[in-house]
Amino acid sequence: MGHPSFAPSMFVSIAGMVTTAKKVAKSVKSTKYDPLAKERVAEILEILQRTYPDVRCALHHENAWQLLVATILSAQTTDVRVNMVTPALFKKYPTAKALAKVEPEAVEPLIMSTGFYHNKAKNIVGAARRVVEEFGGEVPETMEGLLSLPGVARKTANVVLGSWFGRGEGVVVDTHVHRISRRLELTKSDDPKRIEQDLMKVIPQAKWIDYSHQIIHHGRAICVARGPKCVECPLEKLCHAEDKTWSTVAQHKGAKAIKG
Ligand code: SF4
Repeated sequence: MGHPSFAPSMFVSIAGMVTTAKKVAKSVKSTKYDPLAKERVAEILEILQRTYPDVRCALHHENAWQLLVATILSAQTTDVRVNMVTPALFKKYPTAKALAKVEPEAVEPLIMSTGFYHNKAKNIVGAARRVVEEFGGEVPETMEGLLSLPGVARKTANVVLGSWFGRGEGVVVDTHVHRISRRLELTKSDDPKRIEQDLMKVIPQAKWIDYSHQIIHHGRAICVARGPKCVECPLEKLCHAEDKTWSTVAQHKGAKAIKG
């Protein structure tokens, strides 16, 4: 015998309400903000491509060897500064073979203004010697070969592989890529190795080279370290960085939108 106060139709309508509530919960869950959502990342890449279609490496170079040296010299300084010293350096020592023959001290005065010149001189002369002894005078085209050279870590190797050999084996993580990838929530890490791994997971391999070039350009022109020019930024609607200077969207940690 059924309970006298519950008609069968009531069970049906309660079951219907439960199903509807579940559907609503599911749809709320599925529209939850995900900074790594494929569509969002694709939109970021599309905007970068539209805004910076032809950006290239800003270090002046005519061959792989020059790019390698310039990239080693660019640590802790600007590309503009490096471009000021490399013409005289390459004039005096045009090849790896020429540089391999001298002692680092001979090179120091030529690169002094780039900072950390003792180490940098040691590294470029050491790299020259290894390129000559192990690679027949040619810059190796593999990540493994490049990483075996003194002063070359993944960032430098990725610059040479991507910009000269057109091989996207990783993502260049310099100070701009580090800062902006965090602002765009494509990574939460502060460690360049982890950042590169995070980016390689969410960005299609075909875009690894372009992404770094475009972000580096964006970092110099608009998304600068202090006081980013968010009002001019084409990515602004997709960005929820806490240090935005202007916003049309609410930040995800409680800040209100500042509609301008
Ligand atoms: S909105 Fe601002 S913080 Fe975000 S990417 Fe653009 S310039 Fe950088």
